[in-house]
Amino acid sequence: MKKSLLGLSLLLSFTFVAEAQKKKIEKKFNERDAITDLTYLTSDELKGRDPASPEMALAYDYIALQLKEAGAKPVPGADGYFQNIPFRLSSPPSTGKITLGDSTYNQGENLLVLDGESLSGSYELVDVGFGTPEDFEGKDLTGKIAVSSVGAPDKMSPADLFALGNEKTANAKKQGAVALIERFNIPSIPWQLIANYLNRAQMGIDKGESSKLPYIWVKDLSNDLPKAIATRSAKSAVLEIEGKSNTPVDGKNVIAWIEGTDKNLKDEYVMLSAHYDHVGIGRPDAEGDSIYNGARDNAVGTVAVMNAAKFFAKNPPKRSVLLALWTAEEKGLLGSRYFAENPLIPLNQIIYNLNIDGAGYNDTSIITVIGLGRTTADDLVSEAVADFGLKAIADPAPEQGLYDRSDNVNFAKEGIPAPTFSLGFTAFDDEINKYYHKAGDEVDSLDLDYVTLYWKSYILAAQNIANAANQPMWVAGDKYEEAGKKLYGDK
Ligand SMILES: [Zn+2]
Repeated sequence: MKKSLLGLSLLLSFTFVAEAQKKKIEKKFNERDAITDLTYLTSDELKGRDPASPEMALAYDYIALQLKEAGAKPVPGADGYFQNIPFRLSSPPSTGKITLGDSTYNQGENLLVLDGESLSGSYELVDVGFGTPEDFEGKDLTGKIAVSSVGAPDKMSPADLFALGNEKTANAKKQGAVALIERFNIPSIPWQLIANYLNRAQMGIDKGESSKLPYIWVKDLSNDLPKAIATRSAKSAVLEIEGKSNTPVDGKNVIAWIEGTDKNLKDEYVMLSAHYDHVGIGRPDAEGDSIYNGARDNAVGTVAVMNAAKFFAKNPPKRSVLLALWTAEEKGLLGSRYFAENPLIPLNQIIYNLNIDGAGYNDTSIITVIGLGRTTADDLVSEAVADFGLKAIADPAPEQGLYDRSDNVNFAKEGIPAPTFSLGFTAFDDEINKYYHKAGDEVDSLDLDYVTLYWKSYILAAQNIANAANQPMWVAGDKYEEAGKKLYGDK
């Protein structure tokens, strides 16, 4: 009897605390400011926040100013509120042709020169398998072209292909190669779709010398090339790559932090993140609108993190809060990857990442948390959402692989529990496709009452985690559990 009374009073006091926290957020939340921020970031003036456009500066300067005015502090080692990233924009060649024995490959058809400088001449080919670090080790590739499969046996997602391509290019360069040709041999990814998408200027992180190496894909669905190399029917290749241009672009992640209040927990950080870039200007829609304003994707998320900065700067939780607005997500998760590779806060001090990204919504009674069910902090997120009268649901379209397609994955791979808190969707249906990467993704077509509830519940979810007694972990058996153990050890 006594025991259950104690249980009841504990339950009541929890309910009371949760109610008080919700009320505080309700009281302090400045909806008008949030909508002003959203309206500015999605305005035509910013031309769709393409990281290669000069208008991108309007976006990052605005976000940095808001974080500063909120009272969030610059992170030591950053350039004020910025983490500078050396991007380069690599154009397709004016001429791109490779002749291999009897076969000819042409740019845009069965060949894509993705990066590097122009190069012409005849070079010997060396098959390096998948091009793993071990495959390159000890090989003398001086003056030769390394030929590998794209990806790795267990890594075939588009993000993996590009990340590994970077690594292989660097290793090929180190062994003296003059170019890297990757054989594209994944039948499940339609080549023509890829070719149309990639036969235009590509943004990447400038890796200095290894970025000069021509990085080439050839279509090789029936794996003819390794046979040809092995039988010496294609011992060497004649390259004609002309008219490549590579332009440097200044990239910026916007980064700030708020110190936690608990002397033991403040060295731990909860990272609140969202990408602020979008796809820029594109094909005009039926109304002639060619500016892709990216309200759902991902100005709503950017403003969510800015709102959290404004709230937590005045009401800091126990743990510290790291605020991160990534650039160039749409170019292949580049900004977040750069941070993961060059962290301004040691990654093992970042105990959780509540990321935001989204294509849109089709249900305003829910919030879709990509990755719900995979960490021990799930209840804290679900309760925050429920406190605002909404319901948190897990990824309804796992076949889309959304978890591994946004910035959160760059941190999950390192072991940091990192779900993505998205606007509510129950399927990738017509309502989502109507706005996803379309010119019509604007503030005018948003349900702002719903978005406001979403914003508030994000703050509460973040606060619950930042105040939790225990550090969240991956659930047992998750694909990133091992990485988590490696990152944090047995603490
Ligand atoms: Zn997005």
